This record gives sequence, structure tokens and C-alpha cells, in this order.
Amino acid sequence: MLLGLEILADGATVRVVMEAARRKSPAQCCLVASLPLDGIFLDLHGAMVAEHVDDGEGELLSRIRRAIGYDVPISVCLDLHGNITEQSMTDADMLVGYRTYPHIDMAVTGRRAAELLDRLRRAFRQGLPTDRLSHPHLWQCTMVEPAKSIYALVGALEEKPDMVSMSSFFGFPAAYIAACGAMSR
Ligand SMILES: [Zn+2]
Repeated sequence: MLLGLEILADGATVRVVMEAARRKSPAQCCLVASLPLDGIFLDLHGAMVAEHVDDGEGELLSRIRRAIGYDVPISVCLDLHGNITEQSMTDADMLVGYRTYPHIDMAVTGRRAAELLDRLRRAFRQGLPTDRLSHPHLWQCTMVEPAKSIYALVGALEEKPDMVSMSSFFGFPAAYIAACGAMSR
């Protein structure tokens, strides 16, 4: 059985909402009640900041991982503006990001993340190297340079025989957290 969840971020999540989600959210109850699961697919933004938690997605993934253990693969579809943290990379098996801004590849990215989850379900699991790259934040539109070439390179690198998945995240500087900044995975 597969369970799909979708959570979108828009501005700072207030403390009471985050704490309510921590205690007994419908998603968390649904998740635990649905065990055993073959895999989890999440459609997240990546830059959720609460009043008292900078890394909303990392916190969510950590809680899910603690609830389900390490035998259930998790694949996550994310906005390229996601602020990707070590916590998210630890608790998710796949982090797959959009390659366009304006975002016109949301469905395609979701499909890529879902297909990777299917591969993970068939026992393919291994750590992937990560590098934090320095992208210019002022020119993020992928229809013009330099972002156009950056994301063309991301697509080309993913075609390499030994590459399972390649994503590059600009991050969301307006979140004003320590983890703001570009990340490629
Ligand atoms: Zn975005």
C-alpha cells in the first residue's frame, strides 16, 4: 500500500498549528494506522518555517521517519526554492526538485519522484553524494541565464549511467534561516 500526502507552505506557520500537527495530526494518525506501507510519497514545498521551527520539512520528515522506521522508503517532490537541510537528507530517501522557475514542471517532477519511489520499493537503496553549490539568488528564472544552463546541466547529469537522480535547489532566501542557500542532490 502507498500513502500520498500533500502539504504546501505560505508564510510563517504559526506555533499553535505546528504544535497541533506534532501532537495528533490527521496525517500522522492516518500514517500510523496505514502501516505496514510499501512506500511514502510526499509533495512538499521545502521552505516551511514556523514561528519556532526553522526547518518545517525536516521536522516533518523526522517525525514520519520515527513513526515508520527505516524500512519504508520516502520519496519527496519539492520546489526548487526549498531550503534543503541535513535533517531532510537524513530522513528522506529521495529529494526531487523542480527544474523550472516559473514552475511549469510540477507534474513532471512529481512523476519522477513517484517513479524513484517505485525503484526504492524494489530494494534499490543507497546514499547519494551531496554538494552545496553557490548559485546566484538574483537570477533564478530558468528561462534565462545563468539558471537556464544550470538546470540544463542538472538534466544532463541525471542521464549519466551511474546517476539515479539529480536535483538542484536554489533555496528560498526570504525565509531568513541558517539553512537558506543552494543545494544540489
Ligand atoms: Zn518556488
